[in-house]
Amino acid sequence: MPKIKFIADTASDIPDELLLEYDIDMPSVPITIEGKGYFERRSFSVREFYQILSGCAEIPATSRVPAEDYKACYERAFSYGFTDIINVTINAGGSGTNASAHMAKSLFFEEHPGAEGKFNIHIVDSKTYTMAYGYPVVQGAKMAREGKSCGEILDYLYDFFDRCEIYLACYSLDYAKKLQGEGRFTYLGFSSHYGDGDVIRAAIETGAFEACELPYNVYNPVLAEEGAVNLFKLAGEHGMGIINMKAYNGSGTMAIFKQIKGLTKIDYPDMTRFCLSNPYVSTIDAGARSMEEFLSDAEAANQPAMTAQERAELRERARRVSPYLNTICRECMHCLEKFECPQGVNFPKLLGIHGRYLVSSSLGFDTASYKGEYAAAATDSACIACGACLPWCEYHLDIPEMMAKASGELGA
Ligand code: SF4
Ligand code: SF4
Repeated sequence: MPKIKFIADTASDIPDELLLEYDIDMPSVPITIEGKGYFERRSFSVREFYQILSGCAEIPATSRVPAEDYKACYERAFSYGFTDIINVTINAGGSGTNASAHMAKSLFFEEHPGAEGKFNIHIVDSKTYTMAYGYPVVQGAKMAREGKSCGEILDYLYDFFDRCEIYLACYSLDYAKKLQGEGRFTYLGFSSHYGDGDVIRAAIETGAFEACELPYNVYNPVLAEEGAVNLFKLAGEHGMGIINMKAYNGSGTMAIFKQIKGLTKIDYPDMTRFCLSNPYVSTIDAGARSMEEFLSDAEAANQPAMTAQERAELRERARRVSPYLNTICRECMHCLEKFECPQGVNFPKLLGIHGRYLVSSSLGFDTASYKGEYAAAATDSACIACGACLPWCEYHLDIPEMMAKASGELGA
């Protein structure tokens, strides 16, 4: 039975409690801060490091973990009877730490030739940083506890590092601006959502950003012209470019547009033109799924901007139906792929008719034909509000309540 020791340097950011729980050794990365030398996690806690960082005029410099520190870890593990070491290091392309680990391995076997074949040191280049390799090291230690072989654990780690991608977010605007000043990137932007109006306003007013990505569409222009503060205008006044997301009100509403676009007369090109005719919108994140959709979006974008009157008319139609967008049946039929009403009620069909009746009423259309349509689709069985269908609607509609309303308004 192999006895496996895991090693990961402090740049892996594995929390102390997991180091203790899985007996992981963690040699420290040396750090120089404004000319003074420290060792990560030994000279200060993570919290203290961030406090030091906030007062620094220069970005601290790191250097490789010394080979003698790795050698000390190998010596200790060998003396405690471990058969294998899995030593995962920070990206070898960005640090000499991996080379130190190899140097220590050579020195160890020079001094302990008898250990060859009995004690194995596997050095793995994570090719990445921070918890992107701390996490799989902990998972590997768990696998060892479960009795997995060294080969299985190494396969897992190599596979993980071959496919791992990391995304960085800068938690300090000061450093983001500093990096921008150094030419690491050109434009600084942020992205946010409905409900974060105060944060968006504060971010715009810092004057630090050149761009932002915000949701806006004909059904919900609350961050722009219909908000307490027109944040699109504010961003424009700060010289920012605006990327308009959710121009079609989010993918969750796609099915419903298919059902009601004949009534609302609002189709994707109308929504595209509405967004692009906002003078503060620079571009929209249209999310075309095919060349056909892309060409349709491009054709709409190339049309003249909507006039103020066209915009107002479209918005008025959208405003009238927007209360129903999340509350009527989309007739997607996804529920019926897995479920059948025990009473034999075709509830999506009946709810779909009622939904179009509601939308037609809100738009002021004649609704006289809906009663006949409803009667033709109804069967002899009625909904008994048993609720068996409730778990099957992916939009979490309250089907029994909706059926009662539909029956009350359109039933015999
Ligand atoms: S609540 Fe009505 S529609 Fe739903 S399963 Fe029961 S009877 Fe059928
Ligand atoms: S009840 Fe829900 S899942 Fe079923 S068709 Fe209607 S919207 Fe789709």
